[in-house]
Amino acid sequence: MTNEALGVSPGRVNLIGEHTDYNDGFVLPIALDKTARIAATRGADGDVVTITSAQLGTSVVLDSLEPGERAWWGYVAGVVWALRESGHPIGAIDLALDSDVPLGGGLSSSAAIECATALALDQLAGLDLTPEQLADVAQAAENSFLGIPTGPMDQRASLWCEADHALLLDCRTLSARQVPFALPPELTLILVDTRSPHVLADGHYARRREACEAAASALGVAALRDITVAELPAALARLTDEEQVRRVRHVVTENARVLAAVAALEASDWSAVGTLLTASHVSMRDDYEITVPTVDLAVDVALASGALGSRMTGGGFGGTVIALMPTTGVDAFTASLADAYAAQGFDAPQVSTTRASAGGIALSLRG
Ligand code: ADP
Ligand code: MG
Repeated sequence: MTNEALGVSPGRVNLIGEHTDYNDGFVLPIALDKTARIAATRGADGDVVTITSAQLGTSVVLDSLEPGERAWWGYVAGVVWALRESGHPIGAIDLALDSDVPLGGGLSSSAAIECATALALDQLAGLDLTPEQLADVAQAAENSFLGIPTGPMDQRASLWCEADHALLLDCRTLSARQVPFALPPELTLILVDTRSPHVLADGHYARRREACEAAASALGVAALRDITVAELPAALARLTDEEQVRRVRHVVTENARVLAAVAALEASDWSAVGTLLTASHVSMRDDYEITVPTVDLAVDVALASGALGSRMTGGGFGGTVIALMPTTGVDAFTASLADAYAAQGFDAPQVSTTRASAGGIALSLRG
């Protein structure tokens, strides 16, 4: 029995497969080289849970855990709650959180802290949970404790990704497969934080989900994942609502692009991967209508700077753009992007690079 355990789990970025999750489709995230760390120590007092965030410089002391309140500590406390709900006697516990995944930037700082908590508690209490059970309790913290209806990708990416691989996740069956993603030195994966506010994003998200569900039911399928690209023209011809036509076209072609990207990665065909990334962006811009000018500009500048491909990643209306860029072009791109944003009066974007990194781990700190 150990007295202190550390859980370490990364943020993620989705390479391709946007708004496919709630259509029972495919996503292809990588884990980032940025992590959340949770140090878990047994507490002295009954069932009291203490949580500290180094980033927020604050703590909470919770005598009991009740779902429903949306607060920063819920992502951590929710995991303790989910474990207790599933019959694991987690008693008094002190949880100290430190993280370098940017908060709320679309890189899944929330799943990183949930997964780090699940890993630390699994280690501390000797629960021996399976990778599936760890993902389920981490997701339950967000869905059931905080009441935020997010899909299955973020926690599985944070826990299950392997270094130099992307994770192909089937959002219907939750089965996953490792896909090689080791960039050669002459290529760099760029992340652009477009620094754009996510105004009204919640309403747009709900409307798109509703359109997809309505279209699936009009077409007599359980989910849009059940329509293939070959069946798409006939399916679109049966829809009377023009908005639904565009939404369905995005989802069906996006699922096909994810699988095509997997085949291209397995063949180390980076130019084909790039083409698919850009096609995904065009589909999000024109058919799913979830991009904004800051995001489109970053993609345009990336392509003009020699990127093999570029797209917005995440739910939309701002957030992060990725680009697959020749390494020799990264500095010139960064400068061009700063100029282009300044010329439009947009806030300065932040450019960083990343690589496909390892998923979460747990360590025992004291015997
Ligand atoms: P994302 O997961 O894309 O970063 P979310 O809105 O899902 O965005 O999650 C961000 C929230 O997670 C923050 O608003 C905060 O409540 C919580 N969070 C993430 N990291 C930390 C941290 N280091 N300290 C405290 N809270 C954090
Ligand atoms: Mg999140």
